Amino acid sequence: MQGLMMNYPLTLDRILEHANRIYPHKRISTKQIDGSMHRYTYADLYSRVKRLANVLRKLGVNPGDRVGTFAWNNYQHLELYYAIPGAGAVCHTLNIRLFPDQLTYVVNHAEDKVVFIDGTLLPLFERVADKIETVEHYVLFNVPPGVESKLPNTVMYEDLMADVDDDFEWAVTDENTAMGLCYTSGTTGNPKGVLYSHRSMYLHTIGECHPNALDLSSRDIVLPVVPQFHAMAWGLPYACALSGAELVMPGPHLKPAPLAQLIDEEKVTVPAGVPSIWNALYHELKANPRDISHVRALVVGGSAMPRSLIEAYEEQLGVNVLHAWGMTEMSPVGTVCQLQDHHQQLPNHQKWDVKAKQGYVVAGVEMRITNDAGEELPWDGATMGEVQVRGPWIARQYFRVDPTPDSFTADGWFRTGDVATLSEDGYMQITDRTKDLVKSGGEWISSVALENALMAHPGVMEAAVIAIPDDQWQERPLAVVVPAPDAGELTADELNAHLAPNFAKFWLPDEYVFVEEIPKTSVGKFDKKVLRYRHAQGELG
Ligand code: ADP
Repeated sequence: MQGLMMNYPLTLDRILEHANRIYPHKRISTKQIDGSMHRYTYADLYSRVKRLANVLRKLGVNPGDRVGTFAWNNYQHLELYYAIPGAGAVCHTLNIRLFPDQLTYVVNHAEDKVVFIDGTLLPLFERVADKIETVEHYVLFNVPPGVESKLPNTVMYEDLMADVDDDFEWAVTDENTAMGLCYTSGTTGNPKGVLYSHRSMYLHTIGECHPNALDLSSRDIVLPVVPQFHAMAWGLPYACALSGAELVMPGPHLKPAPLAQLIDEEKVTVPAGVPSIWNALYHELKANPRDISHVRALVVGGSAMPRSLIEAYEEQLGVNVLHAWGMTEMSPVGTVCQLQDHHQQLPNHQKWDVKAKQGYVVAGVEMRITNDAGEELPWDGATMGEVQVRGPWIARQYFRVDPTPDSFTADGWFRTGDVATLSEDGYMQITDRTKDLVKSGGEWISSVALENALMAHPGVMEAAVIAIPDDQWQERPLAVVVPAPDAGELTADELNAHLAPNFAKFWLPDEYVFVEEIPKTSVGKFDKKVLRYRHAQGELG
């Protein structure tokens, strides 16, 4: 027997309709190139999104077409996040930090028909323009005065907007219609596209707002530092409209000092970004204190937040850190580390231990850990296995790539490539990415655990651990360390003495290399591929 409830499609335009109806006066503020603030409301956003949907039609964008965006986090990019799916097309966010070859690859692979470009980023796109095959129009906004575009077929965003009205009927009735396309940064091989649907993003949005996840509401002011070109800015642009939270968009101002200023002056309650950004912000706030007491949750994900940094924020700055884990393939949020009742009585240092875990699954996502044979492993907080997930906002295939067993299991789970333990009460703790684990003499060494412990040493600013080949043990850990500015002389012996009480002897790195900077990926994570390459070239250690 079938239920008798409405078959009401879960499309993203419903979220914008809700925001316009219930929260029309809530603000969206963008820090512009010149440092001034652009402000408008959800009502303004609504009307401009409808205009923009008309612009897309005029440019010949039809349902199913892919439309690229190449931009910072700002209000125009937000308009694109709603107008492209609202017109039935697919919003393909392009990572502005991709190497030229990768950028060319993803635009051509997606067959983007139109690309919207932030004028401040024009030179980055112009260098690949002659290799782009399918783009018919480039639409520019925020073009700095005096800058001339070398791209063919360019039109100005505001000219187009001035030429249409804001009467537009949303185009999508089938919730399974594709709405967004995001390529993973492709640590091996070509980047792979993840194609979100209206339904998957709608359900992800609800899951993300849930009190046991980010707990977003109309009392929040959210600052997505995570770029809109990275995993849909973790879905925050949709989650804010659904929950009535105000948005503060940082534009290109991502250095610690302007971020600190923005959090302070805009009274941000939920800033969201990767650990390297929060590490830099912490040092900024220590050097130049600001009032950030209104921050109710510093959301961090993308790589493991070192426990020492969590403790520093919590104890020294009084900031509640909310650790989350996810992947582009998961829309992206999979787990959030909210404490539960049984943690409240714990002494602080044990609370920080829990907060350093990645947390438990957002309702809607199912998780298991398995061994190499694919057998499920126990949730005992000690057994490590590969994390596999399934749920309504998890990819079942990459765009234009047949599913392969290394990504998807025969029984319908996505293989994340992360290795973790799961505690009895459901808290996941990532040990490593499968490809970053150090396999020494048949045992696994967690590079993440060593990095976190090293970064807890006061003389260490950043630390990355990679596996290097070893004749006797197969692989051994090498630590690449950036000393803190006032660290004085750091030695391998001193750092190993610091690690020794907490690790088996065979875990301790055989070699340390001291550097000024650790290379980062396009989304701010330690780039271990580059470190491994440099080591192989004899440039490290
Ligand atoms: P990529 O890093 O390949 O560009 P994603 O941004 O989708 O792609 O990264 C997903 C990966 O990032 C996860 O599989 C995991 O390894 C890592 N990650 C994300 N959040 C966390 C976290 N809180 N702790 C540890 N690792 C994380």
